[in-house]
Amino acid sequence: MARKQTPKPPSKTSVVNLDGQDHRFELLAPLSDAAPLVADVTPQVITAAKVSAIARYDWKNRGVACIGYTEGMAVAYASAYARLQAHDPVADRMARALEPAFHSHGHLKGDALSWYSDQLRAIGMGTATAVERLRALFVLLLGLGMRESSGRCCEGRDRSANNRAANTAEAGLFQMSFDLVAPRAELLDVFHHYQDHPGEGLREIFEVDMRPRENDRDRENFGDPASPGFAFQKLSKECPAMVVEIAALGLREEAGHWGPIINRAAEVRSASKELMLAVERIVDAPAIAAAGPAARALGAGATVSRADLARRFSAPVRLATLLPINNGLSSAKEETMISLLGSPHMPLTTVGQNERASDLVKRNVVLERMSPLFRLTGIKPAIDDVKAVLAKAFAKEPDLANVLSTEGMLSVRMRKPTNGSVSTHISNHAWGTAVDFKVVGFDAPANTGGSVPAFIALLIPLFNKAGWYSGVGFRDTMHFEVSEERVREWAKKKVLK
Ligand SMILES: [Zn+2]
Repeated sequence: MARKQTPKPPSKTSVVNLDGQDHRFELLAPLSDAAPLVADVTPQVITAAKVSAIARYDWKNRGVACIGYTEGMAVAYASAYARLQAHDPVADRMARALEPAFHSHGHLKGDALSWYSDQLRAIGMGTATAVERLRALFVLLLGLGMRESSGRCCEGRDRSANNRAANTAEAGLFQMSFDLVAPRAELLDVFHHYQDHPGEGLREIFEVDMRPRENDRDRENFGDPASPGFAFQKLSKECPAMVVEIAALGLREEAGHWGPIINRAAEVRSASKELMLAVERIVDAPAIAAAGPAARALGAGATVSRADLARRFSAPVRLATLLPINNGLSSAKEETMISLLGSPHMPLTTVGQNERASDLVKRNVVLERMSPLFRLTGIKPAIDDVKAVLAKAFAKEPDLANVLSTEGMLSVRMRKPTNGSVSTHISNHAWGTAVDFKVVGFDAPANTGGSVPAFIALLIPLFNKAGWYSGVGFRDTMHFEVSEERVREWAKKKVLK
């Protein structure tokens, strides 16, 4: 998607992946396109923020926030929440499983959510699920931004501190400097995205009623004007949405970057939690006016919530009613995949490392939109198949397009055996020829026994007809993959370069 659309000048900072190798090759992960949905609900989210208790709260030593700050943070949360529903990799990373917080050589390291777990629990916030973690993260961000900048998005560097170099001068809502971003590929990615799309920064929302107004001091940036650190300072003030994303990601791995986190001076408030919950309800229940039959059946102007649709498509359907399944098809064998599509660069783990994809996969990989809600990354012939299958599914059930989402397609990794045994086989996701589905608001269905959710029941015959094998054959309900037969057909027709 847009994140790497335009070529970037090579960064001066070398980015090294977890294996200590240069991050030269990067495959795009599936990235949702939640922007249209968020744009739809933004007026409602702003209203919810305006009337929220936290908008009137007297923050310790900071006072009441300007209304633009509370509204902007609510809209930024709506975006993150919608993107989490659509399995966007940035949102997934914000909401990933808890990691420890610890001290090393006197410095706080690790995950701010762990560091704040007692304070979060005190206001009734858990961190067991991805949504709970994302919600807690934004509750913490709301308090941190008040502490660091009093919610002034144009805030420049702290004049009482000595950090005046391009890479150390702090800027924006969370007073971050480029030296936090430069060594981290996932943070640089966000920075580059907003360099290409400064108009997505939500500045016009954040600066409403900002006090004091922006002045010349705020506009000043430090260091070499040609340096990325200088550009980062400038953009941090122009694009508050960018610094929210970067701070959200940064808090999960580098809690010690912020003094008010170290000494727990960033306030987490129950009223902040209430605002985030209100935002979630708005995103979950947008008006899908006359979008499909379910909406039309209720008459003109009727609306059906996305949550209702998702529930309908999650209703169980007996597998026995769908037989035969995978008739004449078999799961693609590892040796076939390696001989026809090349071997990934071993060794792999059970965590996706797409830079290790086989050379043939790298040559054939594409990223394409599948519905208003999501895009997929896979090899071209597989993407073409999935697109054709989904077009048929959406023609049959137009409402499905409003709730269908993905758990990912290309992911270069080993299989994850559900019985806890050691993984010895390469996942077919490693070639971008398998895809996992879910509906928004529900976990992706794993082993669902003798029945499957209605949306999977709809997809099974359509995928089978296209020569794709359903994962119910090995108790992985969400999963569909190119069959042994189909991949041999591709090889015969030489569709892969
Ligand atoms: Zn799968």
